[in-house]
Amino acid sequence: MIEANELNADLHCHSDVSDGTLTPEGVAARAHANGVQLWSLTDHDEIGGQHRARRAALELGMPFLSGVEISVTFLGKTVHIVGLGFDIDDAGLRQGLAATRGGRGQRAREMAQALAEVGIEGAYEGALKYVGNPELVSRTHFARYLVEAGVCANTPEVFRHYLADGKPGFVPHRWAALGDALRWIKGAGGMAVIAHPGRYGFSPIEEHAFFTEFKEHGGEGVEVVTGSHRPEEYGKYADMALEYGLYASRGSDFHSPDESHTDLGTLPRLPAKLIPAWELLAERVHTP
Ligand code: AMP
Ligand code: MN
Ligand code: MN
Ligand code: MN
Repeated sequence: MIEANELNADLHCHSDVSDGTLTPEGVAARAHANGVQLWSLTDHDEIGGQHRARRAALELGMPFLSGVEISVTFLGKTVHIVGLGFDIDDAGLRQGLAATRGGRGQRAREMAQALAEVGIEGAYEGALKYVGNPELVSRTHFARYLVEAGVCANTPEVFRHYLADGKPGFVPHRWAALGDALRWIKGAGGMAVIAHPGRYGFSPIEEHAFFTEFKEHGGEGVEVVTGSHRPEEYGKYADMALEYGLYASRGSDFHSPDESHTDLGTLPRLPAKLIPAWELLAERVHTP
């Protein structure tokens, strides 16, 4: 039997139902080709691709967990909470996600206006060309258009100069509350996982508050090995998983063959001292 921590699980990635470039079927095929043994598609604020993803995974013989990545505002910053192993058809979760998506259209128009003020015209129409789901216009779609328009050489550069917090094209936005996101996930029978905690730039006190409140709301896991962490951060968050009594998760955060530096299923395995999230989720895995 394979040791649980050695499983090539990839429980975080995106399709064109949010800001990835491949279809759910395309992501499934790529995960399978890369040797992924347990897969979850975690589109931003949207579970409209879950039935397709599950069907594709099972046809390939690849075990599947339902997934989503919810945008949350905590201490004035945007953080992401991954939900895993929930009921895809749960009405409360669907309504909560629809409400979270609700402000994206207006925000996109305001972003285009802000970009026009620094001389970049037509960004709204330009971004829409890259959008696969009209309810999910993301900064990533703007970034792709700004590369196309020759404003920057690649998408990380667009974020650094235009779309990160404090830059000219950034429009502050209030996402879901932490407690609401956790309620939706748990109400649908799922497990909540802190996505890429190394990305948020919290001070140690803020980070402690985040982990503590997450646990108080019933959160159970944290991503340790993720394409959104630098390898130096794996150790820190492995220790924090143990300190806070959280299950550990692993996922590439893959978005696109052309943009993502981390491909599906290629990260190091979870450190042996951690308990993988998939131990808790065993009953909720869909198997071929
Ligand atoms: P949004 O939900 O519209 O605010 O867009 C957030 C998405 O932008 C994230 O999920 C990433 O895919 C992408 N993103 C955020 N920061 C960066 C960055 N520095 N470089 C490249 N992509 C980024
Ligand atoms: Mn994204
Ligand atoms: Mn994220
Ligand atoms: Mn993600």
